[in-house]
Amino acid sequence: MPRGKVKDREFFGSWVDDSGQRHRLKLLTANPATIEDLEFICAVLNKTQGAEETSRKLTQLVTEWQESGPNLAKMMAANLPLWHTLANSCHAAWTITKTGGAYIHLEPGIALPKYGHSRTRAEEKEAQAVILFYLLTLGPWEKLGGPCPRCGKYFIKKRANHKIYCGRRCGSLASAKVSTRKKLNEDIAGKVLRARTEIQEWDVLKRHPAIDWKQWVHKREPDISPKWLTRAVNNYEKYKLGPPKKEGHHATRKN
Ligand SMILES: [Zn+2]
Repeated sequence: MPRGKVKDREFFGSWVDDSGQRHRLKLLTANPATIEDLEFICAVLNKTQGAEETSRKLTQLVTEWQESGPNLAKMMAANLPLWHTLANSCHAAWTITKTGGAYIHLEPGIALPKYGHSRTRAEEKEAQAVILFYLLTLGPWEKLGGPCPRCGKYFIKKRANHKIYCGRRCGSLASAKVSTRKKLNEDIAGKVLRARTEIQEWDVLKRHPAIDWKQWVHKREPDISPKWLTRAVNNYEKYKLGPPKKEGHHATRKN
């Protein structure tokens, strides 16, 4: 905005009385978006409302915003054209009422950059995403949650501690998955421990049987297959399981 215009605004926003005191008009702020607006924004993000282009563009904006903190100042500093668009949004008009008075009429909306040509359908739909993002910032934005790590949906936070999953269902399914993985890890740890004990016993054998050590371990611990042992000793980083020092006369020594 040109410097002169801001000055004009300051001039018209205040007056000086007879005693020389300056009076300013009160600054009005408005934050008009509601939880219903947020629900609609959520539906567009989840592709149950609006065009695909709108959803894609809005997801991109929301992701940028979330990754910034969310911190609008930081996001806008990194996206100056968007900052310019949003900062110049909302038109205020002095409007005469039917009852003889007047009020300040805020026309919410954004001034989109002009195109040299008429907008294509895709540009139109993407512009709608910018409008929805604008609306998001003007309401209870802190209630927007998601995407849920399990189902990928955006959601409205119902409580202050409602943060990660969209709902109970996704939360409990995810924790079930974690405990299954934990159980699996415990099983693997047990297997490695038993295999290590068997390998130590093999190493102290006076006479090694005429079979491969992996077969020998498998006979004593049926759930430990030779194939599993091969994989485990080949991946020392993960299993910390070394092959026997003495491979026996039957096996061919590698390394
Ligand atoms: Zn979910």
